[in-house]
Amino acid sequence: MQINKNYGQDRVISYLKSAIENKRLANTYLFIGPLGIDKLNIAIDFAKALNCDKAELVSGCSCQSCILIDKNQHPDVIIFGNSGSSIKIDEIRYIQQRLTLRAYMAKIKVVIVPDIERLTPDASNCFLKTLEEPSKNSLIILTASSASLVFPTILSRCHKINFSCSCKDIVSLELESMLGLDKNKSRCLAGFTSGRLPLAIELNKNNFFELRDKVIDLFLQSERRIVDSEFLSKISSKSDISLIFSIILTYLRDIRVLKTSQDEIAIINLDIIDKLKQSLDSVTVSDIDSTSNELMQAVGNIDRNLNMKLFLNYLNSKLTRV
Ligand SMILES: [Zn+2]
Repeated sequence: MQINKNYGQDRVISYLKSAIENKRLANTYLFIGPLGIDKLNIAIDFAKALNCDKAELVSGCSCQSCILIDKNQHPDVIIFGNSGSSIKIDEIRYIQQRLTLRAYMAKIKVVIVPDIERLTPDASNCFLKTLEEPSKNSLIILTASSASLVFPTILSRCHKINFSCSCKDIVSLELESMLGLDKNKSRCLAGFTSGRLPLAIELNKNNFFELRDKVIDLFLQSERRIVDSEFLSKISSKSDISLIFSIILTYLRDIRVLKTSQDEIAIINLDIIDKLKQSLDSVTVSDIDSTSNELMQAVGNIDRNLNMKLFLNYLNSKLTRV
């Protein structure tokens, strides 16, 4: 399996290559890793390598199969878009219907669904059936930025492949020495930005910790734990909404980690772990999952909802109590 450019994921590539060579393929793969590390590109290369007309896929292969996959016009290789919108049950039914068809030209039918955390709960339930009873001669590749954001029922039915990213520990140490932050705050910023040093530095410059504390406090104080217009007006401008949601999602994720594994090393907001622990008893894992899911769907809808009032009404109707 050759690749078009250096993805910096040699371990993943050689694993997938040997799976093809040894004909030991899982029914469903889940590629896990932060945004911007070519999970989707490698999934597409994997689909090409499985179906290439040549003996071995080479960079820029011009066989009919590779060309059709590149154009997303291959009849047996479905590549879902990775725009921010949620993945709804109708789209999952479409995948299921396509998988029941005989392959037109592929050696192995492939369905690629990026950012599987966008699944609605209904779509997730529907998708389970596909994962439990895979179609013959087909393979599904899912991607997610973090395993903690994927419905556990989906997660348990996938062969998980973790992509490596720039080491958070190294970034954390850099932040400690460059910015003079204490160890837990450095680790928090490194974790929050998935090890992206420039972003971590920028967030720190823009008073990230002050904003985070304010957001979490207001979220906890809010009677219905909803993000409404009053909540947002107390915090910041419209352009910060994605950041605010990321802060709440990371907070919910940390609570979930503490509830399910007590693995403090995996906590991102380690500098406020005492505050996190205070929330543990008042919330269930299923509350966290449903609220996180609604928030992620809302995040996906931000760009499409230019009308702020409509967007907030949407949120109010969607968010459940935590
Ligand atoms: Zn080819």
